[in-house]
Amino acid sequence: MCGIVGIVGRDAVAGQLVEALRRLEYRGYDSAGIATLTHGRLERRRAEGKLANLEARLRDEPLGGAIGIGHTRWATHGRPNETNAHPHATARLAVVHNGIIENFRELKAELQGLGVRFESETDTEVVAQLVSHAMDGGLGPVEAVAACLPRLHGAFALGMVFAGYDDLLIGARHGAPLAIGFGQMEAGIGETYLGSDALALAPFTEEITYLEEGDWAVLSRAGAEIRDIDGHPVTRQRQRIVAQAYRVEKGNHRHFMGKEIHEQPEVVGRTLAHYVDLANGRVALPADLPFDFATLSRLSITACGTAYYAGLVAKYWFETLARLPVEIDVASEARYREPPLDRDGLTLVISQSGETADTLASLRYAKAQGQHTLAVVNVPTSTIAREASAVVPTLAGAAPAPRTGVSKARDVLYLGRGTSYPMALEGALKLKEISYIHAEGYAAGELKHGPIALIDESVPVIVIAPHDAIFEKTVSNMQEVAARGGRIILIGDAKGAAAAGLETLATVTMPDCDPVVAPIVYAVPIQLIAYHTAVFMGKDVDQPRNLAKSVTVE
Ligand code: GLU
Repeated sequence: MCGIVGIVGRDAVAGQLVEALRRLEYRGYDSAGIATLTHGRLERRRAEGKLANLEARLRDEPLGGAIGIGHTRWATHGRPNETNAHPHATARLAVVHNGIIENFRELKAELQGLGVRFESETDTEVVAQLVSHAMDGGLGPVEAVAACLPRLHGAFALGMVFAGYDDLLIGARHGAPLAIGFGQMEAGIGETYLGSDALALAPFTEEITYLEEGDWAVLSRAGAEIRDIDGHPVTRQRQRIVAQAYRVEKGNHRHFMGKEIHEQPEVVGRTLAHYVDLANGRVALPADLPFDFATLSRLSITACGTAYYAGLVAKYWFETLARLPVEIDVASEARYREPPLDRDGLTLVISQSGETADTLASLRYAKAQGQHTLAVVNVPTSTIAREASAVVPTLAGAAPAPRTGVSKARDVLYLGRGTSYPMALEGALKLKEISYIHAEGYAAGELKHGPIALIDESVPVIVIAPHDAIFEKTVSNMQEVAARGGRIILIGDAKGAAAAGLETLATVTMPDCDPVVAPIVYAVPIQLIAYHTAVFMGKDVDQPRNLAKSVTVE
């Protein structure tokens, strides 16, 4: 999930590397680091924690050099400390890596047997040591990388620079995204870039080439030579990325999260306006869909995290309104469960970034089963968007509570029925991820089958209950909570609040809305409860601990 960047530039690149890392910080912030080449020698600066720490380090100990690589880490192997921070280096080369080298233990043991000493706990360092060892044996950098890449198993994107080679940057893509950017030529000298995504490179270039699976590339100031998995030179299409070039700003908001919550009406409106032909009262999906929704007999949905809960809401909609049976599973399970899927059926995958590793794998599985595939993503140039047979982009732009007493609770329960059930799951997830309070979401009817044992006066129970067809059932469950001293926070409409006739700790009164759209409207107070609780507790809502926004590893 780390972000990687590389630049073969004209002038000192350290500042540009840091600027790119700022744009990649959504991918991880356990540590950050850069390596550059000055007078042919590799030098590194690395710091534990957020990018600001690296910036402070660079202010004290600046780095020159017109070629370099950078990394912002989300640790998979080894603690998030400075020793494990990328770039990893030997005297010959420095490496940045996104992903996991699954056979690193075998490779490490082999190299240790040959007397190689490792300094970090990471899987990444084996790449540096392996290539270095091949160079010790007499190979040049390009040959050494060509010899080593087939030995690496797992999913990864790599960037490497080499001592003594100030016009050489090598990138490789195997299961994790990587793009090459082409800068302007000035006085016959160009600049070439490597990055985990186009957004990272947007300040420097609008001309991007996405590497394809298995590709690796040799970059110099003159451009890039790309080779496929078999080492054959290939040409990959260049594209312009103007639409994504802006850096996301907070505007007048204190946090990105607050801004994103408040932008939802506009974003949902923009996306709906794109897909709904209001004049004719019809949904206007892309005209070239390679399947007909009307003839489908089954729909399979896979996604992770919040996208999975969005899919769960869609299941209720598809089944209730379209009478289309839906099977839904979290992608990390679906991909290994190998579910039987009919040829010509449809698999729908949902991923904000379009790079989620497990979701991408289940998309590929579905394709291999002969399924049509449809992707709902927010990044139209992402791997999932490019590999799905059809794409319906959300148009949300680049992404990087009332004080109800929740902030003192150790556990919080969220309950809901129907489409409010996925909302309960989402509410619990959001509270957990940004306030670190333990929370669980349950289908309200499940309460009596176990979770009710948790209820006492110290456990707030947040009930999501629009006044819909099953409202009365949820009210009964609220009574069960109240009877055991549980403190209820009700999110409902005025009619429901009056009808429930229960004493609550707080009631969030929502506007009347059609039950079909309730999950979209009710998502807002759920997000606000998590947001305000976390802000009240002094947590960093935009960069919660241990998390990253784009999950490109399993
Ligand atoms: N496995 C590498 C590490 O732990 C990279 C992790 C990642 O890309 O998320 O440093």
